[in-house]
Amino acid sequence: MSNVTPVQQTAGGTVLRDRAFGNATGLICRECGATQELGPHYACMECFGPLEISYDFPAITRADIEAGPANIWRYKALLPVPDDIEQSPNTEPGYTRLLKANNLGRELGITTLWVKDDSTNPTNSFKDRVVACALSAAVEFGAKVFACPSTGNLANAVAAAGARAGIKTVVFIPSNLEQPKQVNSAIFTESLVAVDGNYDDVNKLASEIAGEEDGWAFVNVNVRPFYAEGSKTLGYEIAEQLGWRLPDQIVIPVASGSQLTKVDKSFQEFIKLGLVEDKPYKVFGAQAEGCGPVATAFKAGVDAIRPVKPDTIAKSLAIGNPADGIYVLDIARRTGGAVEEVTDDEIRDGIVLLARTEGIFTETAGGTTVAVLKKLVETGQLDPSLETVVINTGHGLKTLDAISDRVGPVATIAPTYDAFVAAGII
Ligand SMILES: *Cc1c(COP(=O)(O)O)cnc(C)c1O
Ligand SMILES: [Zn+2]
Repeated sequence: MSNVTPVQQTAGGTVLRDRAFGNATGLICRECGATQELGPHYACMECFGPLEISYDFPAITRADIEAGPANIWRYKALLPVPDDIEQSPNTEPGYTRLLKANNLGRELGITTLWVKDDSTNPTNSFKDRVVACALSAAVEFGAKVFACPSTGNLANAVAAAGARAGIKTVVFIPSNLEQPKQVNSAIFTESLVAVDGNYDDVNKLASEIAGEEDGWAFVNVNVRPFYAEGSKTLGYEIAEQLGWRLPDQIVIPVASGSQLTKVDKSFQEFIKLGLVEDKPYKVFGAQAEGCGPVATAFKAGVDAIRPVKPDTIAKSLAIGNPADGIYVLDIARRTGGAVEEVTDDEIRDGIVLLARTEGIFTETAGGTTVAVLKKLVETGQLDPSLETVVINTGHGLKTLDAISDRVGPVATIAPTYDAFVAAGII
């Protein structure tokens, strides 16, 4: 893909910003601060550190945002997308429900608890947000193929968004992925590729293809800086839906760690723009014990994250070498939060608990997050008297196998009243 030039010379000699990326001005290295032009780049040319989007935001008011559509594009001024992004075909994700979770709160002893339910996005996970931003960048860079390595949900979102935008998609998954997640990709694309290996192997292969093939936009590899910005909309929505305030505590699942770092970034941006009052908040990360490299480093009090080989039912969180893990550690420590991990059994309990208390069917990632929330309260790491938000990132219909032995008919009876009475159900 070719580079783009973020400035244009007009006939009169004035320099205009390229509106293809809205208020974004360039890419900046998170490690050394070196800058480069907006383009399909993800690693710093000086130090190979990860690149982030930098912006020059105009004054923006709550009313400006409230006048926008009921999807992530209400925040388009804060994203690297063109001003007319709503006009290009996309899945219009976001603006999902923030539900007051009184029953779950009572069960866990938390006074004020909210569930941000991202399972209702177009392909039933939060990944539709990041993919919408990556798609906009891919189109701008003239990509021929829209692709990703995925633990499942990302592949679903890429395949659907590509179908809607009329761009060819190729999605790569570990071959042992849950069947429903495979079908949920294959329904949208002819090119679902199952790789014999774990996610980290699939990711390595994707990086290799990105290096060899021209015109491929891998959403979470070479357009990752644009992709990552989509997660900010989760944080923006939470603040807006709370009535333009930040919560005291938030619990977020961690795979690569991108989502957690961007929710923190979104809160910081809202504070800087004067859209919410500045106040302390604590960020907590949730992992599975079978893939908890960030939780392990947090507990050990070290800065380096030692990669692991994932072995957990929380396959959507099964990234053994998380790209943003060190930044998750920084945020958890800086805000007074924590990164905690739970067993597969606790994850199943978390899924059932959320379903039975709030009528929300979450996938294993949400089970992990709810179970971590419970553990954080029980171990005194999270203050149950403070306002808390927990994020549900995906839908339980995609991971039915994880709980199919745990729930089912209470009895199988003959179709007679006598049989019903005899079963002793009530
Ligand atoms: C991808 C994913 C996450 C976490 O994503 P990262 O940004 O990589 O940490 C959480 N939950 C679900 C359901 C996901 O698919
Ligand atoms: Zn650098």
